[in-house]
Amino acid sequence: MQRSNRSGEILVIGEIREGTLHSATVELTAKARELADRLGTKVTTLLMYDRVDMNVEDLAWWGADVVLCVVGEPFRYFNQEVYTNVISYLIKGRNPQIVLAPATTSGRTYMPAVAAKVHTGLTADCTGLDIDADTGLLLQTRPAIGGNIMATIQTPNHLPQMATVRPRTFPVPKPNRGRKARVEHPDLPGEVFTSSIEVLGKEHQEGMDVNIQDLDVVVSGGKGLKKAENFNLLRELASLLGGGVGASRAAVDNKWISYPHQVGLSGKVVSPKVYFAVGISGSVQHLAGMQTADFVVAINKDPEAPIFRVADIALCGDLFDIVPRIIEKIKEQRG
Ligand code: FAD
Repeated sequence: MQRSNRSGEILVIGEIREGTLHSATVELTAKARELADRLGTKVTTLLMYDRVDMNVEDLAWWGADVVLCVVGEPFRYFNQEVYTNVISYLIKGRNPQIVLAPATTSGRTYMPAVAAKVHTGLTADCTGLDIDADTGLLLQTRPAIGGNIMATIQTPNHLPQMATVRPRTFPVPKPNRGRKARVEHPDLPGEVFTSSIEVLGKEHQEGMDVNIQDLDVVVSGGKGLKKAENFNLLRELASLLGGGVGASRAAVDNKWISYPHQVGLSGKVVSPKVYFAVGISGSVQHLAGMQTADFVVAINKDPEAPIFRVADIALCGDLFDIVPRIIEKIKEQRG
């Protein structure tokens, strides 16, 4: 879309998985509130679901003025086409100036298609958002060139300005329980729900229960682990620290651990408080998935391993010696 409505709302695309609101929805709504106050506009949070285990109006506590609910059976399973159709239809009708979506697996799937449908750009995987004080444009910051620089991108010629944001990028403020929002159920034409994709069912895959993107501690293993059973060492450490297990693509390709655990360019982007990289060399593709972690502990026997360049603590040595010692020490301290 060409520039037309620089006074429009900020539209946040929320995410509900099997009835549960993804924390990124609250995070993005709160960030949108902050940006909207600077622009003097309102925040609308869109939810698409077949069932939900919360009072959706409570999103007002984090800054939503309107909660837009599209409810129905088509949202029982994720269907990229239906999400794309519904979001594009609503964007065309509501003319928001900014659209924000979580850079979760589903957000990363439908947002490029939405951008193509509404003829605008998309800045994927942002780690910072701000408003330019002079122009009122959205400043969209994300790592670029393999994470070596932070690029700030503006979209001056097309609307809406659209970005996906990595979950856990922004802090969640305390809820303001006195705030109220209007809940709307928009009328949508039947064709937005039609799809050439027929979802026949969902199969459970090991690793799907825990989403490593939601965790404070991620302990990841790579090719240095040598075999599947050795991931038990990492599971023990992760469980002691209240975290979960991640992996490099090499470990996943070797079938030592399932794909939902993969961190990196073609896996998940994680931003935990602490990230352990164990027996991982630190390829640019792996770094793309973990370099926004607050604190990185790298364990590698190669002193030249690139992972050490992004590490806050570099432990150079044999992981089969170091990890059991860390586990032992934690257990000792806890008595
Ligand atoms: P290696 O590079 O083989 O490193 C193993 C490390 O273990 C070495 O540094 C070694 O010194 C160390 N080591 C070995 N034994 C021990 C020991 N006993 N104690 C301590 N250290 C030890 N990779 C990802 O991780 N995620 C992605 O999403 C991803 N997406 C990709 C997308 C594309 C398009 C492409 C082309 C590649 C992608 N890759 C991805 C692959 C990436 O390029 C690397 O091949 C991969 O990250 C390497 O995994 P690794 O570090 O486990 O293995």
